[in-house]
Amino acid sequence: MKDLQDLKILVMGVGGLGCPASLALAQAGVGTLGLVDPDRVELSNLHRQILYNEENVGQLKVEAARERLTQLFPGLKTIIYPEVFSGSNAEKLFRSYDIIVDGLDRLEKKYVLNDWCVKFNKPFVHAGVVKFEGQVMPVIPSVTACLRCLLPKIPPPFALPTCREAGVLGSFSQAIGYLQAFETLKLARGSKELFLWKWDIQKREARAIRPARNTECEACSKGMIEKEMAVRCEV
Ligand SMILES: [Zn+2]
Repeated sequence: MKDLQDLKILVMGVGGLGCPASLALAQAGVGTLGLVDPDRVELSNLHRQILYNEENVGQLKVEAARERLTQLFPGLKTIIYPEVFSGSNAEKLFRSYDIIVDGLDRLEKKYVLNDWCVKFNKPFVHAGVVKFEGQVMPVIPSVTACLRCLLPKIPPPFALPTCREAGVLGSFSQAIGYLQAFETLKLARGSKELFLWKWDIQKREARAIRPARNTECEACSKGMIEKEMAVRCEV
């Protein structure tokens, strides 16, 4: 088990989830954070993306996030990747990291991340939030259930709304991002107490579930189907 200082974590998407998650991971003492995001800071991001302020509008998110994080934590090493995530750069991005944090905003992109993490046997922590519902799920490929064990098929492109389209409370998005960081640290420390957390703040429900692996899962039980690996996915 690595010391936190030697741990390398890749944060995919530095938005409503990736901002609080990377802040909490840096605060906990993680030595290296990789930050992946091709987008620039927009005014409409600021209520939930806590690493940025109005002065950052127009700046690449990864650059603004790096500035803020290293200002707060001078010992933190950051590596930035202002690029679109797809199957073609997954191996290059994932190769040198211990754990991947899924802060991507579209479900179809989360499937691509899931499938490539399973293929490379890379632990990752899925999270998603839309309106009043949020979830977090750490995944150890071939040990715990993956995203495709729960929902086998990729939804049609743009079938589900993003935070931007459906709206989300900034404070709720941040809470899910901090929970994602907590589960990432548990994963790094070798915890076997790994759960799918589901929160619905409108119904006042919080559940921790341990989903079973699907023995028919096309990702983690049968081997990935090449045509699905090739699904185009751009941020
Ligand atoms: Zn699976």
